[in-house]
Amino acid sequence: MIVMKFGGTSVANYEAITRMISIVRGKLDEKPVVVVSALSKVTDLLYKISDQAALRNKAEADRLLKQLRERHIGLAKELMPDNAELCAQACDKVNRICDKLDSFVAAVCAVGELSARSKAIIIANGEYLSSNIICCAMNAGGIRTGYMDARTMIITDADYLKGEPDMNAIAEKVPGIVSEAYRDNDAVITQGFVSATADGEPTVLGRGGSDYSASLIGMAVDATRIEIWTDVDGVRTADPRRVQNTRCLDKISFEEAAEMAHFGAKVLHPLTIEPAVKKNIPIYVLNSMNSSGEGTAILQSTFIEDGVKSVSCKENIHVINIFSTKMINTSGFLTKVFEIFSENKVSVDLISTSEANISVTVDSSQNIDAVVGKLSAFADVYVDSDKSQVSVIGKNIINLKGLLEQTFAPVRDCKIYMISQGASYVNISFVVDRTVLNDVVQQIHKYLFEK
Ligand code: ADP
Ligand code: ASP
Ligand code: MG
Repeated sequence: MIVMKFGGTSVANYEAITRMISIVRGKLDEKPVVVVSALSKVTDLLYKISDQAALRNKAEADRLLKQLRERHIGLAKELMPDNAELCAQACDKVNRICDKLDSFVAAVCAVGELSARSKAIIIANGEYLSSNIICCAMNAGGIRTGYMDARTMIITDADYLKGEPDMNAIAEKVPGIVSEAYRDNDAVITQGFVSATADGEPTVLGRGGSDYSASLIGMAVDATRIEIWTDVDGVRTADPRRVQNTRCLDKISFEEAAEMAHFGAKVLHPLTIEPAVKKNIPIYVLNSMNSSGEGTAILQSTFIEDGVKSVSCKENIHVINIFSTKMINTSGFLTKVFEIFSENKVSVDLISTSEANISVTVDSSQNIDAVVGKLSAFADVYVDSDKSQVSVIGKNIINLKGLLEQTFAPVRDCKIYMISQGASYVNISFVVDRTVLNDVVQQIHKYLFEK
């Protein structure tokens, strides 16, 4: 069995879905479990709808809801012009999902309050729409495809917008549901991103979470391979949207991929690697617009050479500087500080300490108000915003002679606010002003990869 996950651009429209179906058709002998994202930009649209509902701006919410429905109905008709029955079935599904969403949004508008739970319900609809249409289109194309609701098998805690998976529950539920859906079928399909608590309360896995869904399912069914189909030829030496002349990497280790993803490479959700590693399942990152390409294999470290693999970055981070003379010679100070981060679910990327100071970086998507408030009760706290974080990643980079010189030579004229080298030997990261980020990443890439 293999898992094949198709991201938003790989299911964006008629052409993309036609390509996607033909890719799946080529692998039916490997029993694919297909995991799909929402159509490109649809999750963003659903976020906008929920924002408008919270603002009680019903007219604008309705305008956006209409766009959502029309795009999906149009797509269903385009995909199945010769199969009236399946086309009607897909349109009926779309209309039912959209009717329910319209009523839900109207209720949110009426109360003018949007809880995390309500938001999770709204933003999960993109994946329900895409998976229903694609399931019908696959059947119309002669691939007998069984449909599965991810909420019955991807079980999380009650953190509605970033559910933490319950690995045991998932491992227990997925195989039975997949084999049931496979009965008399050639393939099965489900939603990425979507999950639920053990009681059936709707949750989602966080932005970009479909990769994570694929890997969780892969782990649960003991897949021989997890394929992440996207819009680039594999994992590259840097984000091709930021740097010219990037190279595609043939293979990287699980650890390298995890570091890249954690430190900003959007090509994989940061938690994708973890379930695959548990069962040593290789992950392939492939381009749905160039399906004959080899892509990138993500494998156990023993198959991977030492050396620098990529430059990743996070454009918008906060540096939280914590000063306290109490830190000197007291044990327990660091515990107290990091407990506050943990209690408030703020995850820290880089840490550096000196005698009376701790500096940490956190992604700006996280709300740090509570953390800063609590830390300020016993320390002086300064937050530096408009900073970016750059990470040079590769197996055993610590052994490479002159790497620090090579990394920092191109940025010798910039201010560097913080440097951190992980004990894992996989990552050297530093913080610069956001205004110089592009230049810094491009220069380092040139220096490390373009000679
Ligand atoms: P999908 O919708 O298929 O999940 P994403 O947009 O989430 O696709 O991820 C693919 C994007 O990741 C690419 O278009 C690319 O801009 C970005 N990206 C960032 N870093 C890298 C990298 N090192 N290698 C490849 N792509 C990267
Ligand atoms: N549709 C979701 C998002 O845009 C999940 C995903 O695409 O992975 O965040
Ligand atoms: Mg993605």
